[in-house]
Amino acid sequence: MSGILADKKIIVMGVANRRSIAWGCAQEMERQGATIIYTYQNDRMKRSLQRLVSDDAQLFECDVANDESIERAFTDIKEVVGSVDGIVHAIAYAKKEELGGSILGVSRDGYALAQNISAYSLIAVAKYAQTLKLLNDPSSIVTLTYFGSERAIPNYNVMGIAKAALEASVRYLARDMGDANVRVNAISAGAVKTLAVTGINGHADLLKMSQERTVDGQSVSLKEIGGTCAFLMSDLSTGVVGDVIYVDKGVHLI
Ligand code: NAD
Repeated sequence: MSGILADKKIIVMGVANRRSIAWGCAQEMERQGATIIYTYQNDRMKRSLQRLVSDDAQLFECDVANDESIERAFTDIKEVVGSVDGIVHAIAYAKKEELGGSILGVSRDGYALAQNISAYSLIAVAKYAQTLKLLNDPSSIVTLTYFGSERAIPNYNVMGIAKAALEASVRYLARDMGDANVRVNAISAGAVKTLAVTGINGHADLLKMSQERTVDGQSVSLKEIGGTCAFLMSDLSTGVVGDVIYVDKGVHLI
């Protein structure tokens, strides 16, 4: 198949349903010739994913809260599919009660959980991919972040802090994986209505506010985010390292 990702195999982590950013990335990368390997969090997500993909799609369970689960998933992928050219990490979680009101209400446990799933998991994923020699030379890791890492967005709270840690993790990982010719970058996506976003208190206001601030009054689409992901996975982006690329139709400018 032709396209900028012809002959590339890419792992996509974090498809919950057809609204997921990970699904938008998978679709665009497939359009560019990539073979996609999916990981899912649990059986519920597996059933949801199976409704979207063809019967012969490669699906592997991977709960990023658990090192053994990551190690098992990547070991199995290497055995079944071989080494890969990239990983898309589109995973975040915080308790609903931590995503509203004042940041002063954030509990120690809630803070740690958000950091663990939404930021540390990128380091764990990169670590097992590296130690299991899952990644080809060159290859690319892309994660998804949000502007709430830089600005105090209403209700985003503990997730904004986790995204700041995630973006810093991108830079340190990019430095330390450079020798292996693995690029690590983040896409800072504009707000789109997904399962994760509906966990934020007042998410309808957040989505409306974000849409109003785009340059043309239209929210960014999954296709647009996926297109940038395809570029970052391709050899066209070998000079882009440790960066955060906005795909938000200008919201961060205004
Ligand atoms: P989503 O709900 O569709 O996807 C979130 C995914 O995280 C789900 O597939 C879920 O199974 C997975 N996940 C959560 N805990 C996990 C665990 N322990 N192990 C494995 N997987 C786990 O929502 P989304 O909005 O597509 O989120 C994808 C990424 O994009 C997240 O990092 C999110 O913060 C980021 N993002 C979203 C927006 C937005 O407006 N939707 C904007 C910028 C960035």
